[in-house]
Amino acid sequence: MTLPPFEEVAVFHGHICPGLAFGYRAAEYAKKSLNTGRSEDEEMVTIVENDACMIDAIQYITGCTMGKGNLIFRDHGKPVYTFILRNGNKAVRIAQRPAFGMDTLFPEITEIQARVAAGTASDADQKQMQELRSAMIKKILTAPLMKYMNAKRLPRNCPSGPASSNRFPAKPVENQYLNSGHACRTVMSSAYPVSMRTPAAGKSAG
Ligand SMILES: [Zn+2]
Repeated sequence: MTLPPFEEVAVFHGHICPGLAFGYRAAEYAKKSLNTGRSEDEEMVTIVENDACMIDAIQYITGCTMGKGNLIFRDHGKPVYTFILRNGNKAVRIAQRPAFGMDTLFPEITEIQARVAAGTASDADQKQMQELRSAMIKKILTAPLMKYMNAKRLPRNCPSGPASSNRFPAKPVENQYLNSGHACRTVMSSAYPVSMRTPAAGKSAG
């Protein structure tokens, strides 16, 4: 199992932040635990219970994306992620421990954040906040996973089709593809020559 460098994920997200680091480690744990690579089609399904920075790392690393329909968003406001292999009878649920939070590990940031919110933060405050955030990111990327995450294996409980199977309710042909469980692959295979999708298989391509 290989992981892209954290810096590469940050380019996708746009900046480096503690949330991205949490998502990176959650995706790392899921891939190791389920012994799987990046989901090229919809082999893996991820259910996320918030829509914060973590999700970009999870999308980038696992290949579970909103566009493919194998990223399901449930708006519970919780740092909880469930990763499911469609064909592997395996699933794992990961929750971030509240004790491993910025406020708990670096309580001095609370006052600085209050000054930032009030518009009274000094240059020294801004500098210290950046330093604390960098320290937090380093801690997340290097700490043993179980120090800040609870993880448990689940019985397989995979949705029978893509989460978005009703996103084109007025177009029955597309629904047929979407309900197949492999929306992207099925649509692509009927729309484009193989050579356009997978260069290695495109022997006949000119
Ligand atoms: Zn972020």
